[in-house]
Amino acid sequence: MELISVIVPCYNEQESLPLFYDEICSVADGMNEKYNNELDFEFIFVNDGSKDNTLKQLREMSERDERVCYVSFSRNFGKEAAMLAGLERSLGDYAVILDADLQHPPRLIPQMYEYVKSGEYDCAATRRISRKGEPKALSFFARSFYKIINSISQTHIVDGAQDFRFMTRQMVDAILAMPEKNRFSKGIFSWVGFDTKYIEVENTERAAGKTTWNFRKLFLYSLEGIFAFSTAPLWISLIMGIVFCLLAAAMVIKTLICGEPMEGYPVTVALVCLIGGIQLFCMGVAGQYISKIYTEIKGRPSYIIKETEKTKRR
Ligand code: UDP
Ligand code: MG
Repeated sequence: MELISVIVPCYNEQESLPLFYDEICSVADGMNEKYNNELDFEFIFVNDGSKDNTLKQLREMSERDERVCYVSFSRNFGKEAAMLAGLERSLGDYAVILDADLQHPPRLIPQMYEYVKSGEYDCAATRRISRKGEPKALSFFARSFYKIINSISQTHIVDGAQDFRFMTRQMVDAILAMPEKNRFSKGIFSWVGFDTKYIEVENTERAAGKTTWNFRKLFLYSLEGIFAFSTAPLWISLIMGIVFCLLAAAMVIKTLICGEPMEGYPVTVALVCLIGGIQLFCMGVAGQYISKIYTEIKGRPSYIIKETEKTKRR
C-alpha cells in the first residue's frame, strides 16, 4: 500500500469546499480502480483562520470520511504557513499540495502520480502558460519579477510555476528540513533541487468565492521572494555608493585642475536630493535584510494550531 497525502490550504472556502471534496473523492476512487486499491489517501485540510463556515464543514467532513483530517489555525497565518502545516502533518509516501478553489484541477493528480512513480521525476508541478483573464499590468509585473529574480538569484524560479505540486517523501523531508520562518515556497521548491516535471496548463477560473490577492499583496510577496533568495540588492547599494564616490572625486579633481567650480543653487539642491535619496534607498535595502534576521531570530512559530480532528470540541 502507498499513501498519498493531499494537502489543501483553505481560507474562507465554504463555497468551494464541497465542490473540491466531490472532485478529489472521484479522483481518489478513479486511481484506486486503476491501481487495484493499492493506494491510500489522507486529505489534510488546513483551515487558515477562516471567518466563514469552512471549519464547520471540515468538522463534518472528517466525521463522515475517515480519510479527512484537518488542522485549524488560531488565526490567519497566510498560505505559506498553511502549506508548511500540511506538509508537517503529512505521513504519505507522496504529498500533493493544491488549492481548494479548483484552480488546481485534481484530475491532474493521476498524471502527476505517474510521472513521479516512474522514478524519472521526484516532483510534478503545473506551470501556467497563459495569463488569460489577468489584468495586463499584473501580467507585466509578474513577468518582470521572474526576469529580475532569475537574473540576480542563484535559485532559478520557473515563470508561471504554481504551488500545485506532487512530491516524493524525500523531497517533502528536504523542504521540511529548511527551518526558515520567512518562507517563499516558490524559491524553496526550487532550492531543494530534485527533478521536476512541469505540466503546462491554461489558467483556470476560481470555482467559487474570491481571491485574497491584490496588486499590493503580490508586489510585497515578490519583494519577499527577492530578499529571501538573493543578496543582489545589497550589492546594488554598494555599487551605487562606489559610483557616487567616484563621481564626487571627479568633480573635485575637475574643479582643482581646471579651476571651473560647479555653479548654481539648483545643481546643489538636485545633488543633495539625489544623494540623500540614494542613501535612504540603500539603508532601506539593508534594513530589509535586518528585518528578516529579526524575524528569524525571534524564532516564533510559523503558525499556531487551535484544533484538529482529534482535539475538536463538540
Ligand atoms: N489561502 C490560505 N491563506 C490565505 C490566503 C489563501 O490558506 O491567507 C488559500 C486559499 O484558500 C486557496 C489558496 O490558498 O486554497 C490560494 O488562494 P487564492 O485562491 O486566494 O489565491 P490565487 O489562486 O488567486 O493565487
Ligand atoms: Mg485561487
